[in-house]
Amino acid sequence: MTDLLLATRNPGKLVELRRMLDSAQIAGIRVLGLADLPPFPEEPETGATFAENALAKARDAAKATGLASVADDSGLAVDALGGMPGVLSARWSGRHGDDRANLELVLGQLADVPDERRGAAFVCAAALVVPGGEDIVVHGEWTGRLIREPRGTNGFGYDPIFVSDGEDRTSAELAPEEKDALSHRGRAMRALLPHLQALTGR
Ligand code: IMP
Repeated sequence: MTDLLLATRNPGKLVELRRMLDSAQIAGIRVLGLADLPPFPEEPETGATFAENALAKARDAAKATGLASVADDSGLAVDALGGMPGVLSARWSGRHGDDRANLELVLGQLADVPDERRGAAFVCAAALVVPGGEDIVVHGEWTGRLIREPRGTNGFGYDPIFVSDGEDRTSAELAPEEKDALSHRGRAMRALLPHLQALTGR
């Protein structure tokens, strides 16, 4: 059994990665979260890109624990805001993790932006750092548009105002499995699967 640390405190992300390993029939990997290990200092996310933040988190985790470590960083890139909030998505309103205030601020900023210019994408970078091995970074993108009034209660963050290309429902109105199949994080994590499979043969 190979231990793999997913450097997160979000139980939903652990469930998601375990489910993906199962459906790809990758056996022999036990996925641990930060809560399963003794605490170590976690640096704030200060990178200019999702990839920098994901890589820094995975490197810190691998160094502190000696385990193969995966970390992700994600956010919303809004066309009419030149790609912002981007890496600042979690703290766009000035308060880290205040999902409602962040969403309301983006809606206010886009109030006069017409429907045809309301494109946006969720973006995710995921990094795998194996002690003594090569660092790997993969990306996932989920394109869509932002509506004017929040709808739906699933998900988190900007989900209630994001409608995927090819959909009428917001991502907060999708079932979790539907969201995984389309989402930036799902795509990035699936891109990592071959590298995780390779771990089991080491
Ligand atoms: P983190 O990568 O978990 O730190 O997420 C960064 C921020 O990006 C979150 O706080 C949300 O505001 C936003 N975000 C990332 N992924 C999603 C998503 O799937 N739905 C809605 N918001 C998201």
